[in-house]
Amino acid sequence: MVSESVSPLAPEWLVAPADANGLASLVWPRSASRDNDGMLVIAGARADDLVREFGTPVVVIDEHDARSRAAETLAAFDAAASRHGGSARVYYAGKVFMSADVARWMTAEGLNIDVCSRGELETALAAGTDPARIGFHGNNKSLSELERAVTVGVGTIIVDSAIEIERLDAITRRHGRTQRVLVRVRSGVHADTHSFLATAHEDQKFGFSLAEGEQAAARIRETEHVEFIGLHCHIGSQIFGVAGFRESATRLLEVHARLLESGDVPVLNLGGGFGIAYTSVDDPADIRDLADGIVDAVAEECDRRGIPLPILAFEPGRSIFGPAGVTLYEVGTTKPITVETPSGSAQRLYVSVDGGMSDNARPALYGAQFSARIASRTSSADPALVRVVGMHCESGDIVVDNEYLPGDVTPGDLLAVPSTGAYTVALSSNYNHVPRPPVVAVRDGAARVIIRGEQIEDLLARDAGITRGVPAHHEGEK
Ligand SMILES: *Cc1c(COP(=O)(O)O)cnc(C)c1O
Repeated sequence: MVSESVSPLAPEWLVAPADANGLASLVWPRSASRDNDGMLVIAGARADDLVREFGTPVVVIDEHDARSRAAETLAAFDAAASRHGGSARVYYAGKVFMSADVARWMTAEGLNIDVCSRGELETALAAGTDPARIGFHGNNKSLSELERAVTVGVGTIIVDSAIEIERLDAITRRHGRTQRVLVRVRSGVHADTHSFLATAHEDQKFGFSLAEGEQAAARIRETEHVEFIGLHCHIGSQIFGVAGFRESATRLLEVHARLLESGDVPVLNLGGGFGIAYTSVDDPADIRDLADGIVDAVAEECDRRGIPLPILAFEPGRSIFGPAGVTLYEVGTTKPITVETPSGSAQRLYVSVDGGMSDNARPALYGAQFSARIASRTSSADPALVRVVGMHCESGDIVVDNEYLPGDVTPGDLLAVPSTGAYTVALSSNYNHVPRPPVVAVRDGAARVIIRGEQIEDLLARDAGITRGVPAHHEGEK
C-alpha cells in the first residue's frame, strides 16, 4: 500500500516510513532506543539531559559502539587471515575523527593508528600511542614532518612520491635510523559508492602507478636505511561489497610477487573504505563477510602464484566511527515551501536547526545523504517530507536533504541526525563565525567531553584587530 503521505518531491529511493519515529537499526548506534517518554536515549543517556548539560548542537559518541566495531573489525580480519595461516593488522584511519581519547580507545582495542598530518601525528603521540603502531600517510609530507616521524620512531611511513624516498634516504642517513615504508600505488581500480570501474590511468594525486611503484620499491631497496616492507593501496571510501578490493588485491599481488623475487615483502596493505548506512535504504555487509571475502581472495591469489600470504593490513575509519556518532540540534524555525511539480504543486517543509554545514560539511561537499528523527518525543502526526537545513548564509547549507518526519515537527524539538561520527567534526569549520560544537562520549549513562566546544570568545581571541585593542583615535576616524 502506498501511503497517502508519499510526496511527489521525494526522491525515488526514499521510502515513506510506517513509523516516522523509528530508529533504523543499521543507521543508529547499537545502544540507541527511546524511553517511556519517547525520548531518544544513547548509551543510557537521555537526549534532553545531554542537551541541558552541553547545549546544542552537540556531537554525541557512543563509546562502546565505536570500540566494539573496532574490536570486531580486528577480530574479523584476524580470524579470516588465521584460517589461511596468516595474520592481519588494522589501522584506525585517524582523519575520520581524531582525539586523544579516541586514539586510546583504538589502541586499547588492539588497533594501530593512521595519521596524515603533523596535527594528527602529534595528537596520537600526545595520547601516548606507541609510535611503532602509527602509520603516516600523505602526498606532501614536509621534510620536518618526515624528520619528526623518523626520529620518534613511527612504525610505517606510506611513501607517496619519488621525492619523498630521497627525503627519507637523507633523513635516515643523517640520524642513523632505519625507517620501514610501504609504497602507495594506484591499482587502477576506482571504487565508486556502489560499483567499481577499472581505469588504465588514474588521474589523481595519490601514489605511484603499479609500474612506477615497482621501480620505487627497487630504489628504496638501494638505500641504506629505508626498508621496503610492501605495497599499499586505498581504492576509495563508502564502498559496498568486496569486488573492488578483490580486483585491487589481484593487481597488487602481481607486482608483489615480482618484488618477492629480489627480497622480502612481508606486508600487503589494502586500505580502508568500507561503507556504512546513512539512511535506512543503505545495506552494508557485515564486517565478517567483508573480511572473509577479501582475505579469501588474497589467499587464493597467493596460492595460485605459489607465494606466502603476507601480513594483511587494513585501514578502516568510517565503518568504525561513523555509526557511533549522533548530532543533536534544536529546531529553530519551520517553513512550508510550495514547489511546482509537473502534476500540480507540492509542499516541502523546511526545518531549520542551530548548526549546519559548519558542523557537517558532507551534504554540501559531496551531496551526502543523512537521515533524522525528532529526538525529544514521538509523534503520531502524519509523516511530512522535510529538508533539514542549517543556519548558515547559503542555500546549500543542508543537513538532511530528504527525510520524512512527523508533520508536527516544531520549534523547540530536539532533532537527532545519526551516523555523524565520521568526517563531520573532522571537517568542521567556523563558517559565519559559528563556534564548533562540543563532542561528548557517552558510556553507561555517563557523558564526558572529549573535545570541548568553542565559545564566541575563542573566535574573537584569534582576531588580532580585537586582541590588539581598540585604537584611541578610532572614534573620530574618517
Ligand atoms: C581516508 C583513508 C582511509 C579511511 O577510509 P574510510 O572510508 O574512512 O574507511 C584509509 N586509508 C587511507 C589511505 C585513506 O586516505
